[in-house]
Amino acid sequence: MNGAALADFVRRAAEVVTADADRLTRLDAAIGDGDHGLNLSRGFAAAVEALPEGAPPGKVLIAAGRAIVSKTGGASGPLYGTALRQAGKTMGDAEEVDAALLGAALRSALEAVQELGQAAEGDKTMVDALIPAVGAYQAALGRSESLAQCARAAAEGAEEGAEATVPMRARKGRASYLGERSTGHLDPGAASTVLVLHALAAVAAG
Ligand code: ADP
Ligand code: MG
Ligand code: MG
Repeated sequence: MNGAALADFVRRAAEVVTADADRLTRLDAAIGDGDHGLNLSRGFAAAVEALPEGAPPGKVLIAAGRAIVSKTGGASGPLYGTALRQAGKTMGDAEEVDAALLGAALRSALEAVQELGQAAEGDKTMVDALIPAVGAYQAALGRSESLAQCARAAAEGAEEGAEATVPMRARKGRASYLGERSTGHLDPGAASTVLVLHALAAVAAG
């Protein structure tokens, strides 16, 4: 994937989170404060506005991440923004991202989210979608699958991880204030992570 493809990914992610903003907001209304759809659609719209012309992949993601951090409210803004920025840093000056580099970027994004938010697996957050996404990506990479196949595996891993948040009790973020009452609901940040990774898979598929 070149810089233009990564810019297409950011635009596609903006489209899908905006199209699903009402669902994300309903999920957040159940266990949080009902703003996740609005936060993310605003954040990704700002990322689209900030996309540089003709820049390499890393610069595209750093610009997008920076815009999300500065324009998105809530816990998710800094987390998503940091994830994209870190992925961009990992890509460095490469003009073309191959399957191995995209995998390294995805893994570093997960690590940055965990460092910033201090969420572990099972805390009912976007981390519970990202960990299986990274695992599935690396497994596909180990089978020498194409970048597009690895990205699809990541999106499917995220889907399974998000579903698994339903019975979890939240230990991070606003949902943790609900204690036991946070169980039985899909985590909104895990749900939006699925959307964003499907956007990546769709662009990778060409
Ligand atoms: P806020 O809760 O501040 O209103 P959002 O509604 O936009 O922010 O985002 C909520 C989502 O952010 C949660 O569903 C969860 O996935 C994620 N989240 C919250 N806190 C953390 C954290 N410490 N680490 C990782 N993800 C988190
Ligand atoms: Mg919220
Ligand atoms: Mg909020």
